[in-house]
Amino acid sequence: MLETLKNVSFENLLGWFSVDMGIDLGTCNTLVAVRGEGIVLNEPSVVAVKKGTNQVLNNGMAVGWVAKEMLGKTPGSISAIRPLKDGVISDFEITEAMLGYFIRKVNGRSRIFGPRVVISVPSGITAVEKRAVFDSAERAGARRIYLVEEPVAAAIGAGLPFAEPTASMIVDIGGGTTEVAIMTLGGIAVCESVRTAGDDMDEAIISHLKKTYNLMIGEQTAERIKIEIGSAAPMDEERSMEVRGRDMISGLPRKMVITSEEIREALQEPLSAIVDTVTRTLERAEPELSADLVNNGIKLAGGGALLRGCDSILSTSTGLEVFLADDPLTCVARGTAIYLENLDTWKDTLQNDMEY
Ligand code: ADP
Ligand code: MG
Repeated sequence: MLETLKNVSFENLLGWFSVDMGIDLGTCNTLVAVRGEGIVLNEPSVVAVKKGTNQVLNNGMAVGWVAKEMLGKTPGSISAIRPLKDGVISDFEITEAMLGYFIRKVNGRSRIFGPRVVISVPSGITAVEKRAVFDSAERAGARRIYLVEEPVAAAIGAGLPFAEPTASMIVDIGGGTTEVAIMTLGGIAVCESVRTAGDDMDEAIISHLKKTYNLMIGEQTAERIKIEIGSAAPMDEERSMEVRGRDMISGLPRKMVITSEEIREALQEPLSAIVDTVTRTLERAEPELSADLVNNGIKLAGGGALLRGCDSILSTSTGLEVFLADDPLTCVARGTAIYLENLDTWKDTLQNDMEY
């Protein structure tokens, strides 16, 4: 009995009165996972502000779904901002407002102590940006904060044996960045982060319709096209879809039908940037690690990996087996929650220069 009591640290005791949360601070979506409860929050990383200011609308409540609805449809006085758009924090104050809102929403008001949080951040962000994320979480009331690099969280969430002496490789295609990492023994051996991902696919679709048909469409429509008929490799049955937008010449609303073949063509550029990043990362790996990957293959995570045929083009270009993670959109968040559960054991083994 005494032994058991001795093992209960003060930290764990506090844990009974607060909630521990893992946060995937993504460029498109922010997810929060709570120990024992799974994913409790999944909202777009969008904030609506009064134009020209950093003032969040509705007393700081216009965040997430509420704000995303406003994207592209805001009246003159409001703008809906994605503070992490290109994988960097473009706006510190707004990121802070957003993170604070999500943390408070999950933590609730009933808890006595602030939560312990593990936040995954894109591996490409600078030390200053990491500090900003940390400070935001602190101001939002977090009691203890750990930052973990996104590929590590993704690998944990995807169930890769990343802490073992064998190489595993993860490719996380998000909205703003694609993160590619080869890991072994709990650390990142090689990693690359490129600012080409799902958003760039949407932009490629927008520019294709503009160039080819003089049709202007919004970001939301472009994303819908990508999800509905987009592909990286030829499909068994090609598809078509009706789209609506504004004619650039007459200025009037117009609709037309587009095909999956032309969308695939339009997606070539962002896709080849992603493929190049993957092959470049492989080229930088030590031969022993490469050898492991012949057996272990590559795991895909992130929403962008859901594009049809993404796995097959990566497999063709690398010669390795490529597997899509279960539920790629929640992989990182689930990884942060598992990280939290194993904090005591992993804290020292994992490369973690980000605990303050
Ligand atoms: P982040 O980590 O940057 O927030 P996510 O992992 O949440 O990004 O992925 C968001 C991206 O995934 C968006 O660009 C979205 O359009 C894309 N996405 C989501 N579902 C699909 C799908 N079925 N097919 C293609 N892309 C998708
Ligand atoms: Mg992500």
